[in-house]
This record gives sequence, structure tokens and C-alpha cells, in this order.
Amino acid sequence: MDERALYKIGYGLYVVSSVDGERFNGQIANALVQVTADPIEVAVSINKQNLTHEFISKSRVFTVSVLSIDTPLSFVGHFGFRSGRELDKFEEVEYKTGATGAPVVLDNAVAYFEVEVFDGLDVGTHTIFVGNVVEAEVLSDGEPMTYAYYHAVKRGKTPRTAATYIEEKEPVEVEGMDRYVCTVCGYVYDPAVGDPESGIEPGTAFEDLPDDWVCPVCGSGKDVFEKEE
Ligand code: FE
Repeated sequence: MDERALYKIGYGLYVVSSVDGERFNGQIANALVQVTADPIEVAVSINKQNLTHEFISKSRVFTVSVLSIDTPLSFVGHFGFRSGRELDKFEEVEYKTGATGAPVVLDNAVAYFEVEVFDGLDVGTHTIFVGNVVEAEVLSDGEPMTYAYYHAVKRGKTPRTAATYIEEKEPVEVEGMDRYVCTVCGYVYDPAVGDPESGIEPGTAFEDLPDDWVCPVCGSGKDVFEKEE
């Protein structure tokens, strides 16, 4: 069996948020799909270890913010690589409280919808929550992020469509410079790409990054990086 066949499945990238009393939490999800049109129902697969899973199980509601293709890696990292058990992810994020009482992340979102859960399927490590869409709004006419695009950028490759991330420039000379991998989140620092979001020019060797530079995805320091094999 060639598991790479599964990489050909197309996904989007979403912030799924929920509520528990006064507390809000949200996380990144890609396994989300509309399953029926009349009535409109969606399903999302959420890891049982995540705080958002706990909140959805209790409140039976969640919201989905559809992320824009321009979303900074650091924003995805904030919701994807931090736990709501350690910090309030909503502290510095623009959001509103939705009709369901769950928070709706507005930053970097092109649309959102709110869901009332009517069933959950235990699939082992995850629960697939299925529910009715009870509210929905388009926030901008921007293009939504795809999971494939996110991964291509995160891995330091330069897809043709990456105009919003990397300005068109002459290829830079990076011979002899190594790529480094973040051991926490898998982000690859590629000297040919630099880290434009942090003002690091293409052609900057990993060794020459400032000491206070952090992984643009998960916020870890340079010390957790290892030279790519
Ligand atoms: Fe990282």
C-alpha cells in the first residue's frame, strides 16, 4: 500500500472554536467537510486529546473560520501548535461571540459558519462531530487557504502561487547553506526562501539568523532546530 495516495486528498485549513462556560478555545483543523445540502450539515474530525474536543463534547456547538491564503504561518502556529490549556488563544485575536455562544475568529478569515452538533462518531483517536449549520457569513472575497498550499509554504518550498509570501526576486546563491528543521513542528528553514514574515531576506544562512529569531510556525527558539538530513 502506498500511503502517499492519501496525500492527494484535497483539504482546506480552518480554525474550529468552541466554548465551555466563560472559556473559549480554538484549534486548527483540516478534516472538515460539508456532508449534506438540505439541511446544511458539516462534519469535522477532532483529536480527543485537544481541549477543543472537550469543549465541543460539552457545549455541542462549534464555529469554523475559513482561513485566507494570506494567513501568516505564525497565526496558524498560534492555533495549531499551542494548547489552550497553557494560554488563552483568544487574548490577542480579533473575534466575536457567535449566535451559538461560541467564539468566531475573524482575523485572517474569509468566511465563517456556526454549527450545532447532533451526533459524534467515535473513530478511535478522534471524534467526528456532525451538525447543522445555523449561521454563516462571508467576510471577504479573498481566496481560502488549502492544506497543500500551507504545507508547501511551511516546508520552505516556493510554489508559483506564493506571490503573497515571497516577492518575485532573482534566485539567490545559497550553495553551501543548509536547511534546518524545527523539531517541534516540522517547519523547515530554507536559506533560499529566508523568513519574509520576520524580515529575514532570502540568502540568509541559518547560522546568521539573529539569536532571538523564533520558528515562524510554533514560536520555538533556534536551539530546537536540527540540520536537515
Ligand atoms: Fe516550529
